[in-house]
Amino acid sequence: MNIRAFSLSLGIFTLVGVVLVASQDGKAPSKARFFKGNLHTHSLWSDGDDFPEMIADWYKTKGYDFLALTEHNTMANTTRWIDASKDDIRKLAVKKCVDRFGDNWVDRKEEKGKEQIRLKTLTEVKTKIEEKDKFLMISGEEITHGYQKLPIHMNAINLKEVIKPVDGVGVTETIQVNQRLVAEKRKKSGETIISFLNHPNFGWGVSPNDMIPADELRYYEVYNGHPGTNQNGDAKHPSVERIWDLVLASRLKANRSVPLLGVATDDSHNYHKQGMNISTPGRGWIMVRARELDTRQIMDAIDTGDFYASSGVTLSDLKNSGGVLSLKLEGESGITYKTTFIATMKEAAEDAVGVVVGEAEGLEATYKLTGKELYVRARVTSTKSHPNPSYKGETCSAWTQPVLP
Ligand SMILES: [Zn+2]
Ligand SMILES: [Zn+2]
Repeated sequence: MNIRAFSLSLGIFTLVGVVLVASQDGKAPSKARFFKGNLHTHSLWSDGDDFPEMIADWYKTKGYDFLALTEHNTMANTTRWIDASKDDIRKLAVKKCVDRFGDNWVDRKEEKGKEQIRLKTLTEVKTKIEEKDKFLMISGEEITHGYQKLPIHMNAINLKEVIKPVDGVGVTETIQVNQRLVAEKRKKSGETIISFLNHPNFGWGVSPNDMIPADELRYYEVYNGHPGTNQNGDAKHPSVERIWDLVLASRLKANRSVPLLGVATDDSHNYHKQGMNISTPGRGWIMVRARELDTRQIMDAIDTGDFYASSGVTLSDLKNSGGVLSLKLEGESGITYKTTFIATMKEAAEDAVGVVVGEAEGLEATYKLTGKELYVRARVTSTKSHPNPSYKGETCSAWTQPVLP
């Protein structure tokens, strides 16, 4: 999609909030609203430490609307047995699963004197946990690869067949060749499959300069809840959020490629302990605007950019209409909020990338585009401490997608 098409699609999102559309089955029309979901989750199918049905149940009972389990280079669609008593964490996981779903739910067998448990497939988990209009599970994979020693991980969502990562020469090409594999699956299946670059600062694997020329890359994780992902950068590396502006400015200045959209995810692996140094669930998510909780609608809304990323701030409205970007927040008592509008101007000097062009305190914020911006985006910060922080001093935030004039 080129920039013009993208602008048009962003234009659409201003309308879906108010347009009422009759459903195909003739029922009363439903109004678009935001659905909460996490698109980066690990279970015992890869290096997570809990059963997929337990994890799905956790998200469902915590008020999430949708979830994608995204294992490293695998999908939960084969027969897989695991050791029931590998260590204390595994024994605890088995006990909790039996307590929750009953002994009959768990498939056991004995092998070489050791008890094995079969991991449920995604289809089985969906049958058990999904509930119409309440909780949806979307398939996915973390395409886990690298170039030399640099990690390059990408999540593909709504994928039906596993993708085996392929090599590229250099980081950019590794991103590109694997993104093209996802694009081929999308074309072949006719389904809306999307793919985002995960945690660029993990292992300092992917720099902004690696991302800028990767034209196929449309999304990245502006927030990842894993504590090892160097969210805030360091003396030598920009923060993950700063990467967004560097990539956007460079791509749009060259009038090439599409803007980059930001997702927030958990990248959860650990479900039996709490702590800032482990990757627990519930830290970051996206809010997707759709009429119904349905895979196609959720995926299509992500595809048109009608979503925002959050680590604890909730928007009640988000509009881009008539050259005005505006948002409203759901406030909590005792918490103060600040919305910062960040832009890069078309004529900006090299050092004026991602500058503050507007600020507002309180529950409403508006920015009128002048036409001189390459893009503008909003970040909302709050004084609310993150209830489950992944770094010291973390507060709840939200990030809206870049808007073009
Ligand atoms: Zn990863
Ligand atoms: Zn991961």
